[in-house]
Amino acid sequence: MSTNELKLRAAKAFQDVCGYQATTFVQAPGRVNLIGEHTDYNDGFVMPCAINYQAVIACAKRSDGIVRLISVDYDNVQDSFAVDAPIQPTEDKLWANYMRGVVHFLKEKGYAVGGADIAITGNVPLGSGLSSSAALEVVTGQAMKALYDLDVAQSELALIGQASEHNFAGCNCGIMDQMISACGEKNHALLLDCRSLETKAVHIPENISIMIVNSNVTHSLVDGAYNALRRQCEEASRILGKVALRDATLAELNASAIEKGSDVYKRAHHVISENFRTVACADALIAGDLQKVGEYMYASHASMRDDFEITVPEIDYIVEVLTEVLGTKGGARMTGGGFGGCCVALMPADMVDQAKAAIEAKYEAKTGIKESIYICTPQDGAGQI
Ligand code: ADP
Ligand code: MG
Repeated sequence: MSTNELKLRAAKAFQDVCGYQATTFVQAPGRVNLIGEHTDYNDGFVMPCAINYQAVIACAKRSDGIVRLISVDYDNVQDSFAVDAPIQPTEDKLWANYMRGVVHFLKEKGYAVGGADIAITGNVPLGSGLSSSAALEVVTGQAMKALYDLDVAQSELALIGQASEHNFAGCNCGIMDQMISACGEKNHALLLDCRSLETKAVHIPENISIMIVNSNVTHSLVDGAYNALRRQCEEASRILGKVALRDATLAELNASAIEKGSDVYKRAHHVISENFRTVACADALIAGDLQKVGEYMYASHASMRDDFEITVPEIDYIVEVLTEVLGTKGGARMTGGGFGGCCVALMPADMVDQAKAAIEAKYEAKTGIKESIYICTPQDGAGQI
């Protein structure tokens, strides 16, 4: 579904529920991370791009200080709250909490938000690792920015979205997802320094395609595992005497008291090497060297599998099949937090059909699970439409 179709769907729902026409339309995209996994909370580098799947809002100001949220994708179910009263998460409408949190933190940071009718729809698949939640947060901030002419930077909208995700949705995410949704650039990935929030746009030529393969495997232990991994990274950086693993080198790790082959060693080895790969991969992309880009992606996958131990057999199999097809002409790796979710591949556009056919022929036959495939192009971040 195109941006325009999403806009029409939001406009229609707005009109049906509110009985008048929306004045303002905004969008915020989902994202895929090309390389740099579990580096964000270690103050390191990531390289995501915004994709052509997005959240779209139709909205208008209200003069009574009430914010009314309408979820088009959940049968126009509504939530409403007063801007001037303390804003809290709801018990039952989890989707609304991401949006409530954004209004809360805008207000807390001193931005003069007011009442609004807001109809939200989108086509980022929910819970698939393409960050529909960040798109939802950022698009909500973007709506308030547009309606109330707020002088708020896109990176600030990202931070507000992250604060909402932490405090209203209970997920301790890094800053990558909201930053790329708010600040993405068409035809570019963004090399993002998660410490300084500096970004560098990295051009992706039009003859390179981005394929996302969702394994449709989800694991329930993700949160516990994620927290354990974070603790191991913190322990490594404490032993190394660093503020974060971003500041450590492999030589320092090898010379340290951390026992080689221990879990803490392996976690640190992944993060330190992944940081290096991410920066080097950006350079290779800038140089137009897709073979090198591919080598870094394959190496990133191996590191997630062997050192960080966050891949599952289904995911490894997708990368294996893509590696067979693409060889040195592209690259593939798991993307996202791990334990299921998606793989991402970069390849010459004329190899897409072949890669898709190989996955369709082999993945379900081997695993009994049907994959979903998305062909993406890098898009602009959030804005008015
Ligand atoms: P991911 O960010 O990987 O897609 P999350 O579990 O972090 O997965 O976020 C998914 C949740 O975000 C959904 O369960 C829903 O509550 C909310 N959400 C995302 N997009 C929308 C939308 N367009 N409309 C309503 N809720 C949405
Ligand atoms: Mg999310």
